[in-house]
Amino acid sequence: MGKTGGKGLSLARRLYTSRTLGLALGLLCVSVAMYPLDPAPWVWGVMLFNGLIWPHLAFQWARRATVPYHAEHRNLLIDAFFGGFWVAAMHFNPLPSATTISMMAMNNVAIGGLRFLLAGAAAQLLGVAVGLVVFAPAFIAFTTPRQLYACLPLLMLYPLALGWICFRQAYTLGLHKRELLALSRTDSLTGLLNHGAWKDQLELEFQRCKRLKQGVAIALIDIDHFKAINDTYGHVAGDIVLRQLSKMLKQNLRVADVAGRYGGDEFCVILPDLALFNAAQAMEALRERFSHLGYEQNPGLTVSLSIGLATLDASHSDATLWLNDADLALYEAKSTGRNRVICCANGKPRREVLDSV
Ligand code: GH3
Ligand code: MG
Repeated sequence: MGKTGGKGLSLARRLYTSRTLGLALGLLCVSVAMYPLDPAPWVWGVMLFNGLIWPHLAFQWARRATVPYHAEHRNLLIDAFFGGFWVAAMHFNPLPSATTISMMAMNNVAIGGLRFLLAGAAAQLLGVAVGLVVFAPAFIAFTTPRQLYACLPLLMLYPLALGWICFRQAYTLGLHKRELLALSRTDSLTGLLNHGAWKDQLELEFQRCKRLKQGVAIALIDIDHFKAINDTYGHVAGDIVLRQLSKMLKQNLRVADVAGRYGGDEFCVILPDLALFNAAQAMEALRERFSHLGYEQNPGLTVSLSIGLATLDASHSDATLWLNDADLALYEAKSTGRNRVICCANGKPRREVLDSV
């Protein structure tokens, strides 16, 4: 199977099921319509081949193709050609002809939209033309009750099968879409929310807390001298530190807290329903615990954190101003010696909040 085989192959498998069923039921419909016309043995042969052998042959053909999708496109055109051929062979007997044409049209439009529908219609017309050459042109205006009953299984079961196949496909696509959405919001190294997803949450939390006038804090957490850790112990060790911090965030925060990786060695947390003092307490505990963490691979390694905190206040007309305050506090933590938590209250970074912790 080629590189492009995967997707085309799953289409071939779906079509194998629907084609096997559709053509077996179609054989019943066409053979009962053909029977009164007393067709030649070779016509019966072609009919049996088309109804019972062709679906398996078509699948094997597509399966072995370099691009199964293209092979299936060709198979669908062959299906349509045969459909048109049998319509002419049945002398346009109304019900079996309409059933054959409409079931194939439904199949083609479900698989390839308007493009397949039109290509299929062209192939059907070609089939009709060949049928008119092979069988003398004639028109049967009435469908007998027996012929009507022979069409019913195809009319009733095939749309059901196709609907089921389409539903399964839509369900799987929905599942994949949700998985992709989750992946697009997740930081692959740490499993936390990524920058964009966390910012979305920040905006939501900003709106909610403004509306309800509830206390909420955000923390920006930055690993101290992380570049030096990378340079001294290597990037793998650096990654382990990043993962350890995210693990600690997941384990120590409340369910309502929203942690993310802001980028590089910087993390961010939303702490809803917390006054500045309590948020500072929580971050101080985190800083303290993380600074005592040991690393199996590098026993000598200790890592500290600088944390900037800001609570939402009336001066924050948008979430960016609020985030800026946390950034200001983080900058203050870095510039006053690192390994500390600084809170920003009323636009000013200060450490006193923590002195009472
Ligand atoms: P400061 O104490 O001022 O925060 O200094 P720092 O060295 O921690 O900060 P700086 O911004 O100078 O360096 C951050 C480094 O983080 C640089 C970059 O190579 C590294 N980094 C960013 N993303 C990753 C990652 O996913 N894995 C690893 N191992 N390193 C990363
Ligand atoms: Mg850093």
